[in-house]
Amino acid sequence: MPSTGGAMPSVAVIGGGFAGLAAAHQLKRNGYSFTVFETEDGPGGTWRVNRFPGAEVDTPAPMYSFSFAPYDWSRSYPGQAELQSYLEHVADRFGLRAHFRFGTTVRRLVWEEDGQRWAVHLDTGEVLRFTAVVTAVGLLNVPNEPAWPGRELFTGDIFHTARWRSDVTLDGRRVGVVGTGSTSAQIVAELGGRARHLTVFQRQPAWVDPKVSLPFTEKERARRRHPVTRRLIRWRLFLQLERKWLGGRIIRPGGTVDTRAVKICQDYLAEVFADHPDLRAALTPTSAYLGKRAIHSSTFYPTLLRDDVTLVPHAVERVTETGVVDATGQEHELDVVITATGFRAAEFLCGLEVHGRAGRDLKEKWGDDPMAFLGIMVDEMPNLFMMYGPNTNYYAPVFNFEQQAKFVVRSLREMRRRGASAVEVRPEAVRRLNRWLKRRLDASSFAQAPNYFRSASGRVVTQWPDGASVYWLLTRTLHARSARFFRAPSASASPDNRHLSVP
Ligand code: NAP
Repeated sequence: MPSTGGAMPSVAVIGGGFAGLAAAHQLKRNGYSFTVFETEDGPGGTWRVNRFPGAEVDTPAPMYSFSFAPYDWSRSYPGQAELQSYLEHVADRFGLRAHFRFGTTVRRLVWEEDGQRWAVHLDTGEVLRFTAVVTAVGLLNVPNEPAWPGRELFTGDIFHTARWRSDVTLDGRRVGVVGTGSTSAQIVAELGGRARHLTVFQRQPAWVDPKVSLPFTEKERARRRHPVTRRLIRWRLFLQLERKWLGGRIIRPGGTVDTRAVKICQDYLAEVFADHPDLRAALTPTSAYLGKRAIHSSTFYPTLLRDDVTLVPHAVERVTETGVVDATGQEHELDVVITATGFRAAEFLCGLEVHGRAGRDLKEKWGDDPMAFLGIMVDEMPNLFMMYGPNTNYYAPVFNFEQQAKFVVRSLREMRRRGASAVEVRPEAVRRLNRWLKRRLDASSFAQAPNYFRSASGRVVTQWPDGASVYWLLTRTLHARSARFFRAPSASASPDNRHLSVP
Protein backbone atom coordinates (compact mmCIF):
# COMPACT_ATOMS: atom_id res chain seq x y z
CA MET A 1 0.00 0.00 0.00
CA PRO A 2 1.18 3.58 -0.61
CA SER A 3 3.06 5.33 2.15
CA THR A 4 1.48 8.18 4.05
CA GLY A 5 1.53 11.69 2.58
CA GLY A 6 -0.91 13.84 0.64
CA ALA A 7 -4.32 12.71 -0.55
CA MET A 8 -4.44 9.67 -2.81
CA PRO A 9 -4.22 10.88 -6.40
CA SER A 10 -7.02 10.00 -8.77
CA VAL A 11 -5.89 8.61 -12.10
CA ALA A 12 -7.41 8.48 -15.59
CA VAL A 13 -6.17 5.61 -17.74
CA ILE A 14 -6.81 6.01 -21.46
CA GLY A 15 -7.20 2.66 -23.20
CA GLY A 16 -8.05 -0.80 -21.91
CA GLY A 17 -5.78 -3.16 -23.84
CA PHE A 18 -2.70 -4.93 -22.52
CA ALA A 19 -1.05 -1.67 -21.40
CA GLY A 20 -4.19 -0.18 -19.83
CA LEU A 21 -4.84 -3.39 -17.90
CA ALA A 22 -1.25 -3.45 -16.64
CA ALA A 23 -1.69 0.11 -15.35
CA ALA A 24 -5.12 -0.63 -13.89
CA HIS A 25 -3.80 -3.71 -12.08
CA GLN A 26 -0.98 -1.74 -10.43
CA LEU A 27 -3.25 1.15 -9.50
CA LYS A 28 -5.81 -1.20 -7.98
CA ARG A 29 -3.18 -3.14 -6.02
CA ASN A 30 -1.90 0.08 -4.55
CA GLY A 31 -5.28 1.48 -3.59
CA TYR A 32 -5.63 4.30 -6.10
CA SER A 33 -8.92 5.61 -7.36
CA PHE A 34 -8.93 5.34 -11.15
CA THR A 35 -11.09 5.14 -14.25
CA VAL A 36 -10.15 3.41 -17.50
CA PHE A 37 -11.65 5.13 -20.52
CA GLU A 38 -12.10 2.77 -23.43
CA THR A 39 -13.58 3.55 -26.83
CA GLU A 40 -14.67 -0.03 -27.47
CA ASP A 41 -17.38 -1.90 -25.60
CA GLY A 42 -14.99 -4.20 -23.75
CA PRO A 43 -11.34 -4.62 -22.77
CA GLY A 44 -8.75 -5.96 -25.20
CA GLY A 45 -7.40 -2.99 -27.16
CA THR A 46 -5.63 -4.06 -30.31
CA TRP A 47 -6.75 -7.68 -29.85
CA ARG A 48 -10.38 -6.60 -29.71
CA VAL A 49 -10.10 -4.31 -32.72
CA ASN A 50 -7.91 -6.33 -35.09
CA ARG A 51 -10.26 -9.11 -36.14
CA PHE A 52 -8.83 -9.98 -39.51
CA PRO A 53 -8.69 -13.66 -40.44
CA GLY A 54 -5.53 -15.35 -39.22
CA ALA A 55 -4.70 -12.69 -36.57
CA GLU A 56 -2.29 -14.36 -34.19
CA VAL A 57 0.56 -13.17 -31.97
CA ASP A 58 4.21 -13.74 -32.93
CA THR A 59 5.60 -13.81 -29.42
CA PRO A 60 5.36 -17.14 -27.56
CA ALA A 61 2.35 -17.14 -25.23
CA PRO A 62 4.26 -17.50 -21.91
CA MET A 63 6.02 -14.23 -22.69
CA TYR A 64 3.02 -12.52 -24.19
CA SER A 65 1.16 -12.58 -20.90
CA PHE A 66 1.39 -10.82 -17.57
CA SER A 67 3.70 -12.21 -14.91
CA PHE A 68 0.84 -11.75 -12.43
CA ALA A 69 -1.77 -13.52 -14.59
CA PRO A 70 -0.59 -16.86 -15.99
CA TYR A 71 -3.01 -18.62 -18.32
CA ASP A 72 -3.81 -22.05 -19.64
CA TRP A 73 -2.94 -21.21 -23.26
CA SER A 74 -4.23 -23.60 -25.92
CA ARG A 75 -1.32 -23.11 -28.32
CA SER A 76 2.19 -21.75 -28.67
CA TYR A 77 1.09 -18.59 -30.49
CA PRO A 78 -2.50 -17.76 -29.53
CA GLY A 79 -4.94 -16.24 -31.98
CA GLN A 80 -6.97 -13.04 -31.65
CA ALA A 81 -10.03 -14.64 -29.97
CA GLU A 82 -7.95 -16.36 -27.28
CA LEU A 83 -5.92 -13.21 -26.62
CA GLN A 84 -9.07 -11.20 -26.21
CA SER A 85 -10.48 -13.84 -23.85
CA TYR A 86 -7.25 -13.64 -21.85
CA LEU A 87 -7.55 -9.88 -21.47
CA GLU A 88 -11.23 -10.18 -20.46
CA HIS A 89 -10.16 -12.81 -17.93
CA VAL A 90 -7.52 -10.45 -16.49
CA ALA A 91 -10.10 -7.65 -16.22
CA ASP A 92 -12.48 -9.95 -14.32
CA ARG A 93 -9.99 -11.81 -12.18
CA PHE A 94 -8.50 -8.62 -10.77
CA GLY A 95 -11.79 -6.74 -10.44
CA LEU A 96 -10.77 -4.15 -13.03
CA ARG A 97 -13.92 -4.15 -15.15
CA ALA A 98 -15.83 -2.07 -12.59
CA HIS A 99 -13.30 0.73 -13.16
CA PHE A 100 -13.92 0.90 -16.92
CA ARG A 101 -16.03 3.38 -18.81
CA PHE A 102 -16.64 1.64 -22.12
CA GLY A 103 -17.76 3.36 -25.29
CA THR A 104 -16.02 6.55 -24.16
CA THR A 105 -13.22 8.32 -26.00
CA VAL A 106 -10.92 10.89 -24.45
CA ARG A 107 -10.35 13.74 -26.89
CA ARG A 108 -8.35 16.32 -24.98
CA LEU A 109 -6.21 16.72 -21.87
CA VAL A 110 -5.57 20.11 -20.33
CA TRP A 111 -3.30 20.64 -17.32
CA GLU A 112 -4.81 23.05 -14.81
CA GLU A 113 -2.07 24.77 -12.88
CA ASP A 114 -4.32 26.11 -10.15
CA GLY A 115 -5.86 22.80 -9.24
CA GLN A 116 -2.68 20.83 -10.17
CA ARG A 117 -4.73 18.32 -12.14
CA TRP A 118 -5.70 17.25 -15.61
CA ALA A 119 -9.02 18.20 -17.16
CA VAL A 120 -10.01 15.17 -19.20
CA HIS A 121 -12.37 16.08 -22.03
CA LEU A 122 -14.55 13.22 -23.26
CA ASP A 123 -16.38 12.77 -26.54
CA THR A 124 -19.62 12.96 -24.55
CA GLY A 125 -18.87 16.62 -23.79
CA GLU A 126 -18.09 15.86 -20.14
CA VAL A 127 -14.96 17.22 -18.51
CA LEU A 128 -13.63 15.17 -15.59
CA ARG A 129 -10.65 16.03 -13.42
CA PHE A 130 -7.85 13.71 -12.31
CA THR A 131 -4.54 14.18 -10.52
CA ALA A 132 -2.71 12.07 -13.08
CA VAL A 133 -3.26 10.58 -16.51
CA VAL A 134 -1.83 7.36 -17.94
CA THR A 135 -2.13 7.04 -21.71
CA ALA A 136 -2.33 3.42 -22.82
CA VAL A 137 -3.55 3.89 -26.37
CA GLY A 138 -1.16 1.41 -27.99
CA LEU A 139 1.49 1.89 -30.63
CA LEU A 140 -0.46 0.43 -33.55
CA ASN A 141 -3.85 1.97 -33.13
CA VAL A 142 -4.21 4.62 -35.86
CA PRO A 143 -4.38 3.03 -39.32
CA ASN A 144 -2.11 4.30 -42.03
CA GLU A 145 -4.64 4.71 -44.83
CA PRO A 146 -3.02 5.57 -48.17
CA ALA A 147 -4.54 8.70 -49.72
CA TRP A 148 -4.56 7.23 -53.23
CA PRO A 149 -6.06 9.33 -55.97
CA GLY A 150 -9.32 7.83 -57.22
CA ARG A 151 -10.21 6.00 -53.97
CA GLU A 152 -13.72 7.44 -54.04
CA LEU A 153 -14.28 6.07 -57.57
CA PHE A 154 -13.88 2.41 -56.62
CA THR A 155 -17.15 0.52 -56.99
CA GLY A 156 -15.99 -2.49 -54.96
CA ASP A 157 -15.15 -2.63 -51.26
CA ILE A 158 -12.03 -1.11 -49.80
CA PHE A 159 -11.04 -1.26 -46.14
CA HIS A 160 -8.06 -1.33 -43.75
CA THR A 161 -7.12 -4.50 -41.86
CA ALA A 162 -7.81 -2.81 -38.52
CA ARG A 163 -11.33 -1.89 -39.69
CA TRP A 164 -12.17 -5.38 -40.84
CA ARG A 165 -15.51 -5.65 -42.68
CA SER A 166 -16.92 -9.07 -41.80
CA ASP A 167 -20.02 -8.15 -43.87
CA VAL A 168 -17.94 -8.14 -47.09
CA THR A 169 -17.78 -11.48 -48.88
CA LEU A 170 -14.29 -12.49 -49.88
CA ASP A 171 -14.91 -16.08 -50.95
CA GLY A 172 -14.99 -16.44 -54.72
CA ARG A 173 -14.08 -12.79 -55.37
CA ARG A 174 -11.02 -11.01 -56.76
CA VAL A 175 -9.24 -9.68 -53.71
CA GLY A 176 -6.19 -7.40 -53.55
CA VAL A 177 -4.07 -7.13 -50.41
CA VAL A 178 -1.80 -4.09 -50.36
CA GLY A 179 1.34 -4.38 -48.25
CA THR A 180 3.43 -7.33 -47.11
CA GLY A 181 4.00 -6.75 -43.39
CA SER A 182 3.06 -9.13 -40.56
CA THR A 183 -0.64 -8.38 -40.91
CA SER A 184 -0.68 -9.04 -44.64
CA ALA A 185 1.26 -12.30 -44.21
CA GLN A 186 -1.45 -13.64 -41.89
CA ILE A 187 -4.35 -12.50 -44.06
CA VAL A 188 -2.81 -13.74 -47.30
CA ALA A 189 -2.30 -17.20 -45.82
CA GLU A 190 -5.99 -17.29 -44.84
CA LEU A 191 -7.41 -15.94 -48.10
CA GLY A 192 -5.35 -18.04 -50.50
CA GLY A 193 -7.80 -20.61 -51.86
CA ARG A 194 -10.83 -18.71 -50.57
CA ALA A 195 -10.65 -15.75 -52.95
CA ARG A 196 -11.27 -16.43 -56.65
CA HIS A 197 -7.96 -14.72 -57.18
CA LEU A 198 -5.71 -13.05 -54.64
CA THR A 199 -3.30 -10.30 -55.71
CA VAL A 200 -0.67 -9.24 -53.20
CA PHE A 201 1.04 -5.86 -53.72
CA GLN A 202 4.51 -5.56 -52.28
CA ARG A 203 6.48 -2.34 -52.12
CA GLN A 204 9.57 -3.68 -50.34
CA PRO A 205 9.96 -7.13 -48.81
CA ALA A 206 10.82 -7.88 -45.19
CA TRP A 207 12.70 -10.96 -44.02
CA VAL A 208 10.47 -13.93 -43.24
CA ASP A 209 11.45 -16.75 -40.94
CA PRO A 210 9.44 -19.91 -40.40
CA LYS A 211 7.15 -20.10 -37.38
CA VAL A 212 5.74 -23.30 -35.96
CA SER A 213 2.38 -22.43 -34.42
CA LEU A 214 0.84 -25.56 -32.92
CA PRO A 215 -1.91 -26.38 -30.46
CA PHE A 216 -0.68 -27.87 -27.18
CA THR A 217 -1.70 -31.41 -26.36
CA GLU A 218 -3.66 -31.93 -23.12
CA LYS A 219 -0.52 -33.39 -21.59
CA GLU A 220 1.53 -30.35 -22.55
CA ARG A 221 -1.11 -28.00 -21.18
CA ALA A 222 -1.13 -29.87 -17.88
CA ARG A 223 2.67 -29.65 -17.74
CA ARG A 224 2.58 -25.92 -18.43
CA ARG A 225 -0.06 -25.30 -15.75
CA HIS A 226 2.43 -26.30 -13.06
CA PRO A 227 3.73 -23.05 -11.52
CA VAL A 228 7.37 -24.14 -11.47
CA THR A 229 7.36 -25.39 -15.07
CA ARG A 230 5.54 -22.25 -16.16
CA ARG A 231 8.16 -20.00 -14.59
CA LEU A 232 10.99 -22.05 -16.02
CA ILE A 233 9.52 -21.85 -19.54
CA ARG A 234 9.03 -18.09 -19.24
CA TRP A 235 12.55 -17.54 -17.95
CA ARG A 236 14.06 -19.75 -20.63
CA LEU A 237 12.28 -17.79 -23.37
CA PHE A 238 13.40 -14.50 -21.88
CA LEU A 239 16.99 -15.64 -21.62
CA GLN A 240 16.98 -16.91 -25.22
CA LEU A 241 15.74 -13.58 -26.55
CA GLU A 242 17.67 -11.46 -24.10
CA ARG A 243 20.91 -13.01 -25.30
CA LYS A 244 20.15 -11.69 -28.78
CA TRP A 245 18.95 -8.26 -27.68
CA LEU A 246 21.28 -7.36 -24.82
CA GLY A 247 23.72 -4.71 -25.97
CA GLY A 248 21.71 -4.40 -29.21
CA ARG A 249 23.44 -7.43 -30.75
CA ILE A 250 20.49 -8.33 -32.97
CA ILE A 251 20.27 -4.85 -34.48
CA ARG A 252 23.96 -4.59 -35.40
CA PRO A 253 23.96 -4.88 -39.22
CA GLY A 254 26.41 -7.57 -40.26
CA GLY A 255 26.94 -8.73 -36.67
CA THR A 256 26.81 -12.39 -35.67
CA VAL A 257 23.17 -12.44 -34.61
CA ASP A 258 22.04 -10.46 -37.64
CA THR A 259 24.02 -12.61 -40.06
CA ARG A 260 22.67 -15.82 -38.53
CA ALA A 261 19.06 -14.57 -38.70
CA VAL A 262 19.43 -13.46 -42.32
CA LYS A 263 20.91 -16.85 -43.21
CA ILE A 264 17.88 -18.67 -41.73
CA CYS A 265 15.58 -16.48 -43.85
CA GLN A 266 17.69 -16.93 -46.99
CA ASP A 267 17.67 -20.71 -46.55
CA TYR A 268 13.92 -20.66 -46.05
CA LEU A 269 13.45 -18.57 -49.23
CA ALA A 270 15.70 -20.93 -51.18
CA GLU A 271 13.79 -23.96 -49.91
CA VAL A 272 10.25 -22.70 -50.64
CA PHE A 273 11.05 -21.02 -53.96
CA ALA A 274 13.58 -23.53 -55.27
CA ASP A 275 11.67 -23.74 -58.57
CA HIS A 276 10.62 -20.08 -58.68
CA PRO A 277 13.71 -17.86 -58.90
CA ASP A 278 11.61 -14.85 -59.94
CA LEU A 279 9.53 -14.98 -56.77
CA ARG A 280 12.61 -15.66 -54.69
CA ALA A 281 14.33 -12.58 -56.09
CA ALA A 282 11.27 -10.37 -55.63
CA LEU A 283 10.90 -11.49 -52.01
CA THR A 284 14.54 -11.06 -51.00
CA PRO A 285 15.14 -7.94 -48.90
CA THR A 286 18.32 -5.89 -49.19
CA SER A 287 18.39 -4.69 -45.59
CA ALA A 288 19.60 -6.23 -42.35
CA TYR A 289 17.33 -8.70 -40.54
CA LEU A 290 15.54 -5.99 -38.54
CA GLY A 291 15.63 -3.25 -41.19
CA LYS A 292 11.90 -3.91 -41.21
CA ARG A 293 9.92 -5.80 -38.60
CA ALA A 294 10.67 -9.44 -39.44
CA ILE A 295 7.72 -11.64 -40.36
CA HIS A 296 7.32 -14.96 -38.61
CA SER A 297 5.24 -17.26 -40.78
CA SER A 298 5.36 -20.71 -42.31
CA THR A 299 2.19 -20.15 -44.33
CA PHE A 300 2.81 -16.86 -46.17
CA TYR A 301 5.45 -18.03 -48.67
CA PRO A 302 3.69 -21.32 -49.60
CA THR A 303 0.48 -19.34 -50.27
CA LEU A 304 2.34 -17.20 -52.81
CA LEU A 305 3.06 -20.38 -54.79
CA ARG A 306 -0.63 -21.07 -55.41
CA ASP A 307 -1.96 -20.69 -58.97
CA ASP A 308 -4.76 -18.44 -57.74
CA VAL A 309 -2.37 -16.06 -55.98
CA THR A 310 -0.19 -13.40 -57.67
CA LEU A 311 2.57 -11.35 -56.09
CA VAL A 312 2.89 -7.91 -57.71
CA PRO A 313 6.24 -6.54 -56.55
CA HIS A 314 5.18 -2.91 -56.93
CA ALA A 315 3.41 -0.29 -54.86
CA VAL A 316 -0.17 0.68 -55.54
CA GLU A 317 -0.35 4.26 -56.81
CA ARG A 318 -3.97 4.95 -57.58
CA VAL A 319 -7.45 3.48 -57.62
CA THR A 320 -9.87 3.26 -60.53
CA GLU A 321 -13.57 2.34 -60.69
CA THR A 322 -12.70 -1.31 -61.08
CA GLY A 323 -9.35 -1.88 -59.43
CA VAL A 324 -5.93 -0.41 -58.70
CA VAL A 325 -2.98 0.77 -60.76
CA ASP A 326 0.52 -0.21 -59.67
CA ALA A 327 3.75 1.80 -59.92
CA THR A 328 4.47 0.41 -63.41
CA GLY A 329 1.11 1.71 -64.65
CA GLN A 330 -0.52 -1.70 -64.91
CA GLU A 331 -4.14 -1.91 -63.83
CA HIS A 332 -5.43 -4.83 -61.75
CA GLU A 333 -9.17 -5.53 -61.73
CA LEU A 334 -10.42 -6.26 -58.23
CA ASP A 335 -13.68 -6.63 -56.31
CA VAL A 336 -12.16 -5.97 -52.89
CA VAL A 337 -9.06 -4.02 -51.85
CA ILE A 338 -7.67 -4.67 -48.36
CA THR A 339 -5.15 -2.10 -47.20
CA ALA A 340 -2.64 -3.94 -45.01
CA THR A 341 -0.63 -0.73 -44.95
CA GLY A 342 0.12 -0.58 -41.25
CA PHE A 343 -0.23 2.17 -38.69
CA ARG A 344 0.92 5.70 -37.93
CA ALA A 345 3.14 4.33 -35.20
CA ALA A 346 5.65 7.19 -35.15
CA GLU A 347 2.93 9.78 -34.47
CA PHE A 348 2.52 9.19 -30.76
CA LEU A 349 -0.79 10.19 -29.17
CA CYS A 350 -1.91 11.59 -32.52
CA GLY A 351 -5.58 10.97 -31.68
CA LEU A 352 -5.35 13.07 -28.53
CA GLU A 353 -4.91 16.79 -27.91
CA VAL A 354 -2.63 17.41 -24.92
CA HIS A 355 -1.91 20.79 -23.34
CA GLY A 356 0.57 20.69 -20.47
CA ARG A 357 2.13 23.35 -18.28
CA ALA A 358 1.30 26.89 -19.48
CA GLY A 359 -0.88 25.42 -22.23
CA ARG A 360 2.10 23.78 -23.97
CA ASP A 361 0.77 21.69 -26.87
CA LEU A 362 2.44 18.27 -26.86
CA LYS A 363 2.15 17.89 -30.65
CA GLU A 364 3.85 21.24 -31.20
CA LYS A 365 6.51 20.47 -28.62
CA TRP A 366 7.36 17.19 -30.33
CA GLY A 367 6.98 18.23 -33.96
CA ASP A 368 8.44 15.34 -35.96
CA ASP A 369 10.61 14.27 -33.07
CA PRO A 370 8.60 12.60 -30.31
CA MET A 371 10.79 11.79 -27.33
CA ALA A 372 10.21 10.90 -23.74
CA PHE A 373 11.99 9.66 -20.65
CA LEU A 374 12.03 5.86 -21.00
CA GLY A 375 8.97 6.34 -23.19
CA ILE A 376 6.99 7.31 -20.10
CA MET A 377 7.35 10.97 -19.15
CA VAL A 378 7.73 14.24 -21.05
CA ASP A 379 8.95 17.49 -19.51
CA GLU A 380 6.33 20.26 -19.26
CA MET A 381 3.70 17.52 -18.94
CA PRO A 382 3.35 17.00 -15.17
CA ASN A 383 1.59 13.89 -13.88
CA LEU A 384 1.28 12.52 -17.41
CA PHE A 385 2.57 9.01 -18.00
CA MET A 386 2.68 7.08 -21.24
CA MET A 387 2.59 3.33 -21.69
CA TYR A 388 4.25 2.18 -24.93
CA GLY A 389 5.55 5.69 -25.54
CA PRO A 390 8.49 6.68 -27.79
CA ASN A 391 11.37 4.18 -28.11
CA THR A 392 9.90 1.32 -26.10
CA ASN A 393 8.98 -1.15 -28.86
CA TYR A 394 10.91 -4.44 -29.09
CA TYR A 395 10.50 -8.09 -28.32
CA ALA A 396 8.94 -7.83 -24.86
CA PRO A 397 6.15 -5.22 -24.86
CA VAL A 398 4.07 -6.90 -22.15
CA PHE A 399 7.08 -7.05 -19.81
CA ASN A 400 7.58 -3.34 -20.47
CA PHE A 401 3.96 -2.51 -19.66
CA GLU A 402 4.44 -4.01 -16.23
CA GLN A 403 7.61 -1.97 -15.65
CA GLN A 404 5.90 1.20 -16.88
CA ALA A 405 2.89 0.61 -14.61
CA LYS A 406 5.21 0.16 -11.62
CA PHE A 407 7.07 3.34 -12.60
CA VAL A 408 3.76 5.25 -12.53
CA VAL A 409 2.87 3.99 -9.08
CA ARG A 410 6.37 4.66 -7.73
CA SER A 411 6.23 8.22 -9.08
CA LEU A 412 2.85 8.93 -7.53
CA ARG A 413 3.93 7.38 -4.24
CA GLU A 414 7.04 9.56 -4.15
CA MET A 415 4.95 12.60 -4.98
CA ARG A 416 2.69 11.92 -2.01
CA ARG A 417 5.59 11.16 0.29
CA ARG A 418 7.03 14.59 -0.46
CA GLY A 419 3.68 16.29 -0.01
CA ALA A 420 3.91 17.44 -3.62
CA SER A 421 1.05 17.82 -6.05
CA ALA A 422 2.92 17.22 -9.31
CA VAL A 423 5.85 15.23 -10.62
CA GLU A 424 7.63 16.06 -13.84
CA VAL A 425 10.68 14.70 -15.58
CA ARG A 426 13.70 17.01 -15.82
CA PRO A 427 14.27 18.17 -19.42
CA GLU A 428 17.99 17.35 -19.17
CA ALA A 429 17.12 13.75 -18.25
CA VAL A 430 14.99 13.42 -21.40
CA ARG A 431 17.76 14.93 -23.52
CA ARG A 432 20.52 12.80 -22.03
CA LEU A 433 18.64 9.55 -22.46
CA ASN A 434 17.63 10.44 -26.01
CA ARG A 435 21.20 11.26 -26.97
CA TRP A 436 22.13 7.73 -25.88
CA LEU A 437 19.16 6.28 -27.78
CA LYS A 438 20.02 8.23 -30.92
CA ARG A 439 23.64 7.05 -30.87
CA ARG A 440 22.52 3.43 -30.55
CA LEU A 441 19.67 3.65 -33.05
CA ASP A 442 21.36 5.66 -35.79
CA ALA A 443 23.85 2.84 -36.27
CA SER A 444 21.25 0.08 -35.98
CA SER A 445 19.38 -2.04 -38.51
CA PHE A 446 16.24 -0.04 -37.69
CA ALA A 447 17.75 2.95 -39.50
CA GLN A 448 18.52 0.95 -42.65
CA ALA A 449 15.24 0.60 -44.52
CA PRO A 450 11.87 2.29 -44.90
CA ASN A 451 9.77 1.15 -41.95
CA TYR A 452 7.29 2.43 -39.41
CA PHE A 453 10.02 2.89 -36.78
CA ARG A 454 11.05 6.31 -38.03
CA SER A 455 9.31 9.67 -37.81
CA ALA A 456 9.21 12.26 -40.57
CA SER A 457 12.52 13.63 -39.19
CA GLY A 458 14.18 10.28 -39.99
CA ARG A 459 14.92 9.47 -36.34
CA VAL A 460 14.00 6.00 -35.07
CA VAL A 461 11.29 6.91 -32.57
CA THR A 462 9.44 3.68 -31.86
CA GLN A 463 12.20 1.18 -31.07
CA TRP A 464 14.13 0.23 -27.93
CA PRO A 465 17.73 -0.72 -28.81
CA ASP A 466 18.66 -3.06 -25.97
CA GLY A 467 17.51 -5.88 -23.73
CA ALA A 468 14.54 -6.10 -21.38
CA SER A 469 16.91 -6.23 -18.41
CA VAL A 470 18.35 -2.83 -19.36
CA TYR A 471 14.90 -1.28 -19.63
CA TRP A 472 13.95 -2.81 -16.28
CA LEU A 473 17.12 -1.51 -14.62
CA LEU A 474 16.70 2.01 -15.97
CA THR A 475 13.05 2.26 -14.90
CA ARG A 476 14.14 1.17 -11.39
CA THR A 477 17.20 3.34 -10.95
CA LEU A 478 16.93 6.49 -13.01
CA HIS A 479 13.69 7.70 -11.62
CA ALA A 480 14.38 9.77 -8.49
CA ARG A 481 17.31 11.67 -9.98
CA SER A 482 15.41 12.49 -13.14
CA ALA A 483 12.23 13.85 -11.62
CA ARG A 484 11.27 17.09 -9.94
CA PHE A 485 8.32 17.63 -7.71
CA PHE A 486 6.02 20.63 -7.36
CA ARG A 487 3.53 21.92 -4.82
CA ALA A 488 0.23 23.51 -5.68
CA PRO A 489 0.71 27.25 -6.17
CA SER A 490 -0.59 29.48 -3.42
CA ALA A 491 -1.12 33.23 -3.45
CA SER A 492 2.16 33.85 -1.62
CA ALA A 493 4.29 31.32 -3.41
CA SER A 494 6.81 32.44 -5.96
CA PRO A 495 7.52 30.01 -8.84
CA ASP A 496 10.85 29.14 -7.18
CA ASN A 497 9.57 28.05 -3.85
CA ARG A 498 6.88 25.96 -5.49
CA HIS A 499 9.61 23.67 -6.63
CA LEU A 500 10.67 21.00 -4.16
CA SER A 501 14.24 20.00 -4.57
CA VAL A 502 15.17 16.40 -5.22
CA PRO A 503 18.14 14.72 -3.50
P1 NAP B 1 3.59 -2.73 -41.51
O1 NAP B 1 4.55 -3.68 -40.95
O2 NAP B 1 3.83 -1.29 -41.32
O3 NAP B 1 3.41 -3.07 -43.03
C1 NAP B 1 2.72 -2.23 -43.90
C2 NAP B 1 2.95 -2.71 -45.29
O4 NAP B 1 2.24 -1.89 -46.19
C3 NAP B 1 4.43 -2.63 -45.72
O5 NAP B 1 4.73 -3.78 -46.46
C4 NAP B 1 4.45 -1.37 -46.59
O6 NAP B 1 5.48 -1.35 -47.54
C5 NAP B 1 3.11 -1.51 -47.25
N1 NAP B 1 2.59 -0.32 -47.93
C6 NAP B 1 2.27 0.88 -47.38
N2 NAP B 1 1.80 1.70 -48.34
C7 NAP B 1 1.83 0.99 -49.51
C8 NAP B 1 1.47 1.26 -50.86
N3 NAP B 1 0.99 2.45 -51.23
N4 NAP B 1 1.62 0.27 -51.79
C9 NAP B 1 2.11 -0.92 -51.44
N5 NAP B 1 2.46 -1.23 -50.19
C10 NAP B 1 2.32 -0.30 -49.24
O7 NAP B 1 2.10 -2.98 -40.93
P2 NAP B 1 1.43 -4.33 -40.38
O8 NAP B 1 1.70 -5.46 -41.28
O9 NAP B 1 0.02 -3.98 -40.06
O10 NAP B 1 2.22 -4.61 -39.06
C11 NAP B 1 2.39 -3.60 -38.11
C12 NAP B 1 2.87 -4.19 -36.83
O11 NAP B 1 1.78 -4.81 -36.16
C13 NAP B 1 3.89 -5.29 -36.93
O12 NAP B 1 5.17 -4.85 -37.13
C14 NAP B 1 3.74 -5.96 -35.59
O13 NAP B 1 4.44 -5.25 -34.62
C15 NAP B 1 2.25 -5.85 -35.38
N6 NAP B 1 1.61 -7.09 -35.83
C16 NAP B 1 1.92 -8.20 -35.13
C17 NAP B 1 1.38 -9.38 -35.52
C18 NAP B 1 1.76 -10.58 -34.78
O14 NAP B 1 2.23 -10.54 -33.67
N7 NAP B 1 1.61 -11.70 -35.39
C19 NAP B 1 0.53 -9.47 -36.60
C20 NAP B 1 0.22 -8.32 -37.29
C21 NAP B 1 0.77 -7.13 -36.89
P3 NAP B 1 6.95 -0.78 -47.16
O15 NAP B 1 7.52 -1.81 -46.23
O16 NAP B 1 7.66 -0.70 -48.43
O17 NAP B 1 6.73 0.53 -46.47
